[in-house]
Amino acid sequence: MKYETKILSTRYPRPDAYGSLAMPVYHTAAFEFPSAKAMSDAFCGRSAAPSYSRIANPTVSHLEERVRQWTGALSVTALNTGMAAVAYALTAVSAAGLNIVASRHLFGNSLSLLRDTLGTLGVEARFADFTCPDEVAALTDDNTAALFFEVITNPQLLVADIRALAAVAHSHGVPLIADTTIVPFTVFHARDFGIDIEVVSSTKYISGGGTGLGGLLVDYGTIDWSSHPSPQMQSRIRRVGRKMPFTARVKTELVTNLGGLMAPQAAYMETLGLDTLDIRFRRQAETTLWLARQCRELPEIARVNYTGLEDNAFSELSLRQFGPLPGAVFTIDLASRQAAFDFIDSLKLIRRATNLFDRKSLAIHPASTIFGTFTDEQRREASVDDTTVRLSIGLEDCHDLLEDIKNSLASTQ
Ligand SMILES: *Cc1c(COP(=O)(O)O)cnc(C)c1O
Repeated sequence: MKYETKILSTRYPRPDAYGSLAMPVYHTAAFEFPSAKAMSDAFCGRSAAPSYSRIANPTVSHLEERVRQWTGALSVTALNTGMAAVAYALTAVSAAGLNIVASRHLFGNSLSLLRDTLGTLGVEARFADFTCPDEVAALTDDNTAALFFEVITNPQLLVADIRALAAVAHSHGVPLIADTTIVPFTVFHARDFGIDIEVVSSTKYISGGGTGLGGLLVDYGTIDWSSHPSPQMQSRIRRVGRKMPFTARVKTELVTNLGGLMAPQAAYMETLGLDTLDIRFRRQAETTLWLARQCRELPEIARVNYTGLEDNAFSELSLRQFGPLPGAVFTIDLASRQAAFDFIDSLKLIRRATNLFDRKSLAIHPASTIFGTFTDEQRREASVDDTTVRLSIGLEDCHDLLEDIKNSLASTQ
């Protein structure tokens, strides 16, 4: 089955008192039980009945189940934000004294999560250039808990060879964890490339339109955890077997203790987003490719970066891994920081806002915003240039968008 057919045919558990066609929003904190015994069974995991919405909620479970069926994963956990999904994934594999080998080209908060938050808990972050698998391999050792990277980095748009990274991770018996926010699972099948655990900021494509925040944590169940260095994982293996400890730790320890499960209303909005995800993505990515090609012809633009362009340094690897439409974001480089600011200030249709894959097109100057509090040295290390403008392309007509770009470039002269 193709994406739309399969995702639209996933039903929620019946019976429903009214035969609702859409999944109802169970906007409740607690669930009532017919007996003390039924209550005890739910609390002790002997039945699947929900007890309290911090731990499980049917509307949230329905979103998780739809994603699980489409991706073929072992388990999916829906969290409040994309950062919660990143934090849960990295926390679940960690223990004091272990290290995580991570890309130095990461979403800003993922970088500071590793550097500051996990760092103070005794987990060492080792940063590498993930386009260079040898550099990653050299930093990986017996105390490595996981490898973590983004499949296309933002805003540099660097593409790593995912199978080569999976080989490094698997030779040490540890998972390859990928943030795949930039290309949706409708077109990119993470497991086929050796990714074991996928994290997605569903705030982006899936909510579509910036209707709310959300994160998805997808465990493909592909790792045998028996040689993983975490003592917590080893003690869980005895109870749940060699494939389940990650999911078990997330579902029964982190969700309950850290309290980040997605809210029912957000899960409902994201369920609606899933219905139209593929068609929105294709339209937005086709416009992106067309605009990137048009922008190459404009003399005011020094460089256009989109890995779907034939002459992009990563075009072959990008095509092989993500297909012909690698996302709906591209960057342009102008003559100077001032030119970038002038361009952004002159935009009339494209909005000045952060976020990616909203239905509206958005522009941002990453160096002064997302990376604005970094030192010059840290920005250089993250390869974030002062001349770069990032454009996230929405559902507007492509010619109207091009006209807005051309008119705004005229004001930079
Ligand atoms: C936005 C984003 C995040 C964080 O997601 P939130 O939903 O804002 O918490 C993480 N990774 C990437 C690649 C992102 O673009």
